[in-house]
Amino acid sequence: MIPKLSYELVVIFGGAIVVDLLSSSLLSLMVFVLGASIGSFLNVVAHRLPLKLSLWHPPSRCPQCLRSLKPYDNIPVLGWLKLKGRCRYCRTPISLRYPIVEGMTGLVFVWIAWSFPTPLLAIGYWALFSWLLALSLIDLDTMTLPLSLMRSGLVVGLLFQTLGGWLNHQTVVGAAAQLFSGILGAVVGIWLFDLIRIGGSIALKQDAMGSGDAKLAAMMGAWLGWKLLLLAGFLACVGGAAIGGGAMALGWLDRRQPMPFGPFLALGAMLALFFGEPLLLTYRQLFFPTL
Ligand SMILES: [Zn+2]
Repeated sequence: MIPKLSYELVVIFGGAIVVDLLSSSLLSLMVFVLGASIGSFLNVVAHRLPLKLSLWHPPSRCPQCLRSLKPYDNIPVLGWLKLKGRCRYCRTPISLRYPIVEGMTGLVFVWIAWSFPTPLLAIGYWALFSWLLALSLIDLDTMTLPLSLMRSGLVVGLLFQTLGGWLNHQTVVGAAAQLFSGILGAVVGIWLFDLIRIGGSIALKQDAMGSGDAKLAAMMGAWLGWKLLLLAGFLACVGGAAIGGGAMALGWLDRRQPMPFGPFLALGAMLALFFGEPLLLTYRQLFFPTL
């Protein structure tokens, strides 16, 4: 027979677990909603920034009939589903990309919050992902990477490093050291990708990468530091070669046709962020087991 005290303990602990689960799923839901709303804004950025339009004015409207959206049509994902993907007034189809970007941003925000439980890291990497996603969408649409967006991303990345150094060490030296590691990452980004670009141009006898890619790598280096940046660059090259090569083999892509490399760099950065440490550890154990 289990003593009475044990029953009470079971009830107390069981109750605590249920409360914990509920509060953590409520928190995840709130983070998802925040991410989806930011994803909705990133859609606006990707659409308006290359056209040099204001990001804030006018409010969201249908690109076809120019009528303003109702506030409840603007609710991420749900608004699109309720309208069945068409404008409320003129029935012009609304691209599926909008709800996909919103939903994906929400999910990645939740994933980041789970993986990096300190507020500074979570907020910092939410910002990194937002910059990367906006740049990827613009690169896919226009084959260019706006310098203004990469410059602001670089500055925010260096601020994030400095603040992280300050919070970790509580000293000016600690903050300066972390800032320096961000700057070093940015310099390695520019330097390495210029090298890849020149090498690739010689090998392929055409521009392998736009000069914007080196600047994007610099921005990523500021956030990730040089080690994770190198891994991100490696993953991006592998991904780009596999998908580009596959598309050429299937005849979907002409050899001369340029392919945006920004999305591959962005994906490499996120993979390096989530899986970087275990990947680097496996690499070291495989090739330098004695170290
Ligand atoms: Zn319309």
